[in-house]
Amino acid sequence: MRGRRAGAVIAGCMSAVAAAQSTASPELLDIYRGMVETRTVHPDGDNTAIARSVARRLLDAGFDPKDVEVLEPRPLKGNLLARLRGTGESKPLLLLAHIDVVEAHKEDWSEGLDPFRLTERDGYYYGRGSVDDKSMAAIFTETMLRLKREGFAPKRDIVLALTADEETGGSNGVEYLLRNRRTDIDAAYALNEGGGGTYRDGHPFLHSVQVSEKMYLSFDLETTSAGGHSSIPSRDNAIYDLAAGLERLARHDFPVRSSVVTRAYFAELARVEKGEVAQAAAAVGAGDASDAQVARLSRGPRYNAQLRTTCVPTRLEGGQADNALPQRAHATVNCRLMPGEDPQFVASEIQRVAGERVSVKARGKVRVSEPSDPAAPIMATIRRVSESMWPGVPVVPTMGTGATDGSRLRNAGIPVYGVSGLFVEYGESRAHGRDERLGVRALAQGNEFLYRLVRALASE
Ligand SMILES: [Zn+2]
Repeated sequence: MRGRRAGAVIAGCMSAVAAAQSTASPELLDIYRGMVETRTVHPDGDNTAIARSVARRLLDAGFDPKDVEVLEPRPLKGNLLARLRGTGESKPLLLLAHIDVVEAHKEDWSEGLDPFRLTERDGYYYGRGSVDDKSMAAIFTETMLRLKREGFAPKRDIVLALTADEETGGSNGVEYLLRNRRTDIDAAYALNEGGGGTYRDGHPFLHSVQVSEKMYLSFDLETTSAGGHSSIPSRDNAIYDLAAGLERLARHDFPVRSSVVTRAYFAELARVEKGEVAQAAAAVGAGDASDAQVARLSRGPRYNAQLRTTCVPTRLEGGQADNALPQRAHATVNCRLMPGEDPQFVASEIQRVAGERVSVKARGKVRVSEPSDPAAPIMATIRRVSESMWPGVPVVPTMGTGATDGSRLRNAGIPVYGVSGLFVEYGESRAHGRDERLGVRALAQGNEFLYRLVRALASE
């Protein structure tokens, strides 16, 4: 999702593949449409409807009823758990996708689009969840059906888990499975969201595999003052104090933290970036970047977020009346911590920078997440399959700047690789936002990629 186009050579190689897989199969499209058009927002969306519909499809395709379950810890919070049995030579492969989505309102979307109707327009499918994460949920479902029909005999069981409560809500999805069905989802590794490909000017440029995640932590920043009549203002003002603290925070950079994952990421990036940025990326990858090189990379928000912990104000409120001096002002500062970063250190940095007039309190605790091994054998298989579809496009291990259920599985001892083969244009970020969309060609190619990858992994 980052970087620059590798060149015309790749574009040339692509055309054959693009021609072969430019539209999704009618079956995939039907599954995808059914999922997008089932509203699964918290708290009243119906996840169970999707779980049941997928269960029905699997049973119709000949899956053994004892290998297909709909688990509903609470009404509407259904999960689908299914298993394609292998010979048992190797440990299972887990395919994880969440079926819940973030709320969306028709009036916030462009004319003619309804977030809960799948609309094809100008080469894209529009709809809430069209990217996050119903594309993968539909593709994994279609892959299970296809492998079953082909009579494929995998060396390892392939377990499909379509889950609730990833976006909001809490503990009825992956957390429920880990607590109650740990052995049924046990796996050598899991494939999940969090990775994907980047187009630059419509051409595949970079294919990322998420092996690590930043940690999410919000802080409450608060100031207070005596208040009084606004016709006789004093310098003691909670809003000025908070604004001054936030202004200092805006100019503050947290220290650079490199990890095995981010070094591998920047080393790969150096191969496809150009000029100063390529040199800086190579230096960060090698662990010997100068301050100027770090500063050069930090200019781009995406690269900056790979280099360090970030904290940014996301909400602000203060004062109690138009004609009164404020007695209180409050800001939410949302931080994304580098894995291994000490939350205490982050809190003390915010306090130091914001100043003593600002009270700083962490809201809750971070969910620690250790990276999966970016050099594990599965990466070689991912590279091989990616190369078969997008020759010359680097496969790059990345640290996700957002949070997914991957960290829960990693913490439970199941390595997770966020890989999808779904490409979006560089800089496009509509998941959770308005007019969420996925390219028609991208869906078809992602489907083919994940099918090939699951087949390859299950044959090892
Ligand atoms: Zn998601």
